[in-house]
Amino acid sequence: MIRYALLCDLDHAFESWFDHSSAFDKLQTSKLIECPHCGSQKIRKDLMSPQIGGLRANKRTTSNPSIAKSKDTELQNLQQEAVELARKIRGHVEKNADKVGDKFASEARKIHFEEVEPHNIYGEATSDEVNELAEDGIEIAPLPTLPEDKN
Ligand SMILES: [Zn+2]
Repeated sequence: MIRYALLCDLDHAFESWFDHSSAFDKLQTSKLIECPHCGSQKIRKDLMSPQIGGLRANKRTTSNPSIAKSKDTELQNLQQEAVELARKIRGHVEKNADKVGDKFASEARKIHFEEVEPHNIYGEATSDEVNELAEDGIEIAPLPTLPEDKN
């Protein structure tokens, strides 16, 4: 036995049992199926609602990941842009400043107190050194971190 969800031409939904799947077609063409609500003999299998339900379910499951994916892509693009910008800044600084390594704080102080010719420098400073420089009124700008720095 097969149970079919059926619809008449006025969209009355009902169910009916058939011996086998071809029985429905035979009964339908012989107009032996009647809508219990209006007596219409124009009956079709109600294939729509499970399909619509399936589509809705599919849409629901696929739309969220696709939104998440587009956000991820946006985020990745922004991160990529930020890295490119950081790379440019770093490249500019490294090209136009002298690398002083971990002597940055003392070099910055020498320049500030005009003990040496003014020149641009870059290097490493501990957070304590950065604070001390700030207390001396020496303004320094942190260089942007690049992904490869973490390696
Ligand atoms: Zn009907």
